[in-house]
Amino acid sequence: MSRAEQTTHELRTAFDAGITRSRRWRRDQLRALRRMLLENQPEIEQALHDDLGKHPLEAVITEIGMVIAEIDYALPRLRRWMRARTVPLPLMLAPARGRAVPEPLGVVLIIGPWNYPLQLVLNPLVGALAAGNAAVVKPSELAGATSSLLAELLPLYLDQRALAVVEGGAEVTGQLLEQRFDHIFFTGSEKVGGIVATAAARTLTPVTLELGGKSPTYIDDSVDLAVAARRIMWGKLLNAGQTCVAPDYLLATPATARALVPHLERATREMYGSDAATSPDYGRIVTPRHAERLARMLTDAAPSFGGEVSLEQRYVAPTVIDGVDADSPLMQEEIFGPILPIVHVGSAAEARAFIRSRPKPLAAYVFSRRRRVRRAFLAETSSGGVSFGAPAAHLGAPQLPFGGVGTSGMGAYHGEASFRTFSHLKSVLDKPLRPDTMRLAYPPYRGWVKSLLRRMLMRGR
Ligand code: NAD
Repeated sequence: MSRAEQTTHELRTAFDAGITRSRRWRRDQLRALRRMLLENQPEIEQALHDDLGKHPLEAVITEIGMVIAEIDYALPRLRRWMRARTVPLPLMLAPARGRAVPEPLGVVLIIGPWNYPLQLVLNPLVGALAAGNAAVVKPSELAGATSSLLAELLPLYLDQRALAVVEGGAEVTGQLLEQRFDHIFFTGSEKVGGIVATAAARTLTPVTLELGGKSPTYIDDSVDLAVAARRIMWGKLLNAGQTCVAPDYLLATPATARALVPHLERATREMYGSDAATSPDYGRIVTPRHAERLARMLTDAAPSFGGEVSLEQRYVAPTVIDGVDADSPLMQEEIFGPILPIVHVGSAAEARAFIRSRPKPLAAYVFSRRRRVRRAFLAETSSGGVSFGAPAAHLGAPQLPFGGVGTSGMGAYHGEASFRTFSHLKSVLDKPLRPDTMRLAYPPYRGWVKSLLRRMLMRGR
C-alpha cells in the first residue's frame, strides 16, 4: 500500500466509525484549530515572513485573523447549520413527512496554493470539519516554511484519526489524486485546476475549484480619486500583488487615467515610502522564477512609476503603466504581482464590453458614484464577486459566499457556504404504511379514481 493509500484508508476507517459526526467533535476540532492559531501566532507569522516576506500585521489581517473569523462565525451557528430542515410536501404524498438532512461527505482533500498558504488551506478546513468530514490537507510546497509548520502543528491540535497533512509538490499531489475522495477542494491556477478536475472525473469525485484570472477594475471621474487610489493600491500591493482577487488591471478613459496616476503614486508612497524595497511592510515575490516572469512582462513597458526588479531579492517595485494595449503581454495572463496596467476605454459601456469579451474573472471592481453605471456592471458582466469601492474586501465577510464562475472557478465557500460545500443535503421522506394512499397510483390505470388522479396532476385539465 502506498503512503497516500495508507493515509486515506486510515481516515476512511475513522470516518466510517462515525467519530466525526457529532456536533461535539466538530466543535472541539474548531476550538482546537483556534487555539493552535493563538498559541503559535509568532511561529506562524515567522513562517509567512520566511515564505513571502509578509509583515506580521498583514499576516494577521489576511491569514490568521481571517481563519479565526471563520471559526468564530461557524461555532455559534453549527447547531442551526446541522439541523434537518422540514419541508412541506405536496398533498399527493400525504400523509408523509419530508426533511432535508445535511450529512458529511466523508474523506475530503484540500489542496492549497502558496500565496496565502495558511488561510487558503485552513478556511476550507474549517468548513470540512464543521460539516463533519475527515480531511487530507496538502499545502503548497512553494511556501515551504508554512507547509512544514502546518504539518507539525495540525496533528498536535486536531484529531489525528481524522486529519492528515501531506507535504509535497506535483508528484505527491498526483499520488493523492489517485485515491478515492468524497470531495476535492482545490485552490490554485487554472492549469492545475484542470489537472485536478480531470483526475476527479475518473472517479466522479465532486470538486470545488477556486482559481484565478484577471480581475478588472473600472473607475470613472465621479469618485474621489485620492481615496479610490489608496484602495486600489492597497488591494493591488497586498502580498506584493500575489492575491487572487487583486485588481489585475484598470479600465478608465484616458482623461480619468491621467488624473488618477499621480494619486496612485502618492498612495503607494504613503503606504510603502519612496523606495518600497526598504519598506518592512512590502512583501516579496515567492520565487526568483516568478520574479523573472514579472520582469518579462515589463520588458517593453513604459511605467508611469516603478518598474525596478531585483531577481536575487525577489523584489518587484510597485508599478503602474498607463495606456497599455489590450494585446500587450501584461493583458494575456493573470499578473499576480505588483504591476498595474491601465487600459483606456471610451466609456463605461466599452469597459463592460471589454470585460465580457474575456474569461469570467474572480472579482470585478467598480468605482463610480453613478448608480446607473454600477447597476449596468452588475447586470451586464459576470464575475465570481463584485465589490463597489473596495477591492478584495469582500473576502473578509464570512456572510458572503466566495468563489469563481467560468474559468475563475466553480463552487463557493466561507461561512455557511463552506458548510454546504462539504455536506450532502440528503432528502428524507417518511411515509407510514397505513393508510396505504399510494394504492391510488398503482395500475390498472382505469376507473374514476385514476381519472380523478389525472385531473389532479394536470391541475384540472
Ligand atoms: P498552482 O496551481 O501552481 O498550485 C496549487 C497547488 O497545486 C499546490 O499545492 C501545488 O503543489 C499543486 N500542484 C502544482 N502542480 C501540480 C500538478 N501538476 N498536479 C497536481 N498538483 C499540482 O497555483 P499557485 O501558483 O500555488 O497559486 C497561484 C494561483 O492560484 C493563481 O492563479 C491564483 O489566482 C490562484 N488563487 C486562487 C484563489 C482563490 O481563492 N480563487 C486564491 C489564491 C490563489
